[in-house]
Amino acid sequence: MQRFALTLLAFTIASAVHAADAPTIDPQRLSSDVKTLSSDAFEGRGPDTPGETKTIDFVVSQFKAAGIQPGGDLKNGKREWTQAVPLLRTEIVGKPQLSFDLAGKTQTLTQGEQISVRAPLDGSTEVAIKDAPLVFVGYGVSAPERRWDDFKGVDLHGKIAVVLVNDPDFETGQGDFGGKAMTYYGRWTYKYEEAARRGALGVMVVHETAPASYGWATVKNSNTNAMFDIVRDKPSSVHPRIESWIQRDQAVAMFKDAGLDFEALKKQAQTRDFKPVVLRGESFSAAFKVDSKVITSHNIVGRIDGSKHPDQTVIYSAHWDHLGISAPDAKGDRIYNGAVDNGTGTASLIELARAFAKAPKPERSIVFLNVTAEEKGLLGSEYYATKPLYPLGTTVAVINMDALDPHGPARDFTISGNARLDLLDQLIATAKRWNLTYSPDPRPEAGGFFRSDHFSFAKRGVPAVSFDSGDDWVDGGLAAGKKAAEEYTTNHYHQPSDEWQASWSFTGMARDLQILYTLGSDLANSNAWPNWSSDSEFRAARDASAADRK
Ligand SMILES: [Zn+2]
Repeated sequence: MQRFALTLLAFTIASAVHAADAPTIDPQRLSSDVKTLSSDAFEGRGPDTPGETKTIDFVVSQFKAAGIQPGGDLKNGKREWTQAVPLLRTEIVGKPQLSFDLAGKTQTLTQGEQISVRAPLDGSTEVAIKDAPLVFVGYGVSAPERRWDDFKGVDLHGKIAVVLVNDPDFETGQGDFGGKAMTYYGRWTYKYEEAARRGALGVMVVHETAPASYGWATVKNSNTNAMFDIVRDKPSSVHPRIESWIQRDQAVAMFKDAGLDFEALKKQAQTRDFKPVVLRGESFSAAFKVDSKVITSHNIVGRIDGSKHPDQTVIYSAHWDHLGISAPDAKGDRIYNGAVDNGTGTASLIELARAFAKAPKPERSIVFLNVTAEEKGLLGSEYYATKPLYPLGTTVAVINMDALDPHGPARDFTISGNARLDLLDQLIATAKRWNLTYSPDPRPEAGGFFRSDHFSFAKRGVPAVSFDSGDDWVDGGLAAGKKAAEEYTTNHYHQPSDEWQASWSFTGMARDLQILYTLGSDLANSNAWPNWSSDSEFRAARDASAADRK
């Protein structure tokens, strides 16, 4: 999971009423599966490690025992239990040579200090850039449906695009990009992709803590180590050679040396009239070698064929991977067990497979997709979405589970980030039958919607959400739930201490899984095609495949 602490707003008193026709979910079995998946024997479930083999063996054995069918790669006319996911792994060799030429003076840059340059994912094995010009392109957004274009036809070939993070209306709080809430145009991944589409040599994102929603330490830690991507047919169409962040002070100084006012230009960038500005007399140089190789990991895929519309698919997804074996914590523990993140989601997927296998066959097919490499940038789900085993146009919905709460039940639930789609409305209505209320993400500006595996589907138009446990606990209310959530984020999130606890009751997850079962079952036994709201940035992508659903 890639997330921030949630502080939930909604507060309701609800009585525990159970909807009649949902299956019984066994909290004990959830507990035992999470315990197994997060045991030291699984070595933190790193992709392409012995932990991956153990994880695949365990999940497949549970899928088989449940009685569902393999739904992975086709080999000799038969489905396997996995989908092979080739991943590109790159790392900068040694200390990269990086510098600016600012008004005739050379400034040497230290990797991780003034600048953080990612190991390139465009296919380069060596980078040698001499005096590339710098162009400020505002927020780097091209959004025809909002009549917004920051580029105004500027030629970025051979140049470095300097961009601001988040949306053009983040600072003003109102405008064409949902105000404080972040659209996909605000994500740094979008800025890189858009610049690559325009042939830019590189991108420098100006780091500012508020719009990024995290400090420089996070930028440094997540950009100066090994990088991963799925193996792509044409990686340079998605990745410019230089993908980097610079510190705000550095940017302000550079703008000043070029006779420009950073704050004034930022204000201009918040308007439609903004035009790209060349940082005159300034340039960037870089020289380093890249260690690059391909590793193979796997998505695990189980399936139940639909009785009436087998070609229409409802997907339940969860990532199985975690951080593997890495730097030791204060106690010397080096195994990142990932009990909550995402032993809980994987155990949930298995439990849902058991429940569906016992029920009468649904009319549409159900796919249980246990993806890899979420922690490396949503890569297993991205791979599935670029090479779908079942067509995305006839994929009804994706219900993702990532880091669920192993404690008792809450009176509410939430989803990662904010979005408007029929699938969420249907989830809200279903949860109401259990007297659960929906608590919207209180920090939509952090872009939580873009940080879990459902997003790989959403950006291609497939209606998709990540369900998240609520914090308003039946036992102890919001105070207890928030305390536990904060305790997890501070002391266990992405740390070796994310370990199974005997005290966890798993009764909240068991109840929430009845809701998710019912949502998926209702979709799988209907002819409905939920869509995005008309103002969603994902609506056009869905509508483009409308003919598939006739
Ligand atoms: Zn995680």
